[in-house]
Amino acid sequence: MKVGIYPGSFDPVTLGHMDIIERSRSMFDVLIVGVLQNIAKQSLFTIDERVDMLKELTKNMEQVKIMSFTGLLVDFARKNNAQFIVRGLRSVTDFEYELQMAQGNRHLAPELDTLFLAAETKHAFVSSSAVKEIATYGGEVAGLVPDAILDKIYEKLGRGVNP
Ligand code: ADP
Repeated sequence: MKVGIYPGSFDPVTLGHMDIIERSRSMFDVLIVGVLQNIAKQSLFTIDERVDMLKELTKNMEQVKIMSFTGLLVDFARKNNAQFIVRGLRSVTDFEYELQMAQGNRHLAPELDTLFLAAETKHAFVSSSAVKEIATYGGEVAGLVPDAILDKIYEKLGRGVNP
């Protein structure tokens, strides 16, 4: 069984994340989207909300499983018999950070490899933090996140529905 893990905070999931899921899922028998519960970082959506949103968005994608995790990614990967980590690259800034992470993870778990997918040009500027910032100040985030979660974002930020 070829098992890949696509880890992230997904706070919230964006169309950039969805694109990486869509493109990488056919490479594996199982693609686990690992939603990180980071106790040191405050999140907009709870871990259960982030998991539920991803489950709903991927319900028709056969190989995709949504799971939450805490602690080291390599431990989560080993527990689930994954051989590959999937990450997206938007920019040189991503690359520097991602290269270090990939090398650190290989140091800890030499049996694990990281695969990088280049972000689509149209998603290259899209990040969860940009989405939160834009929505906080009443900007339009349609086209950056899946339509199905638009209202959830505006609700969370206390705006009811789309401004
Ligand atoms: P983290 O908190 O680990 O950075 P994110 O949820 O922000 O988690 O991102 C998870 C992964 O998705 C990272 O590899 C990141 O580079 C990638 N990613 C984020 N946004 C995009 C995008 N717009 N296009 C492609 N990949 C992306």
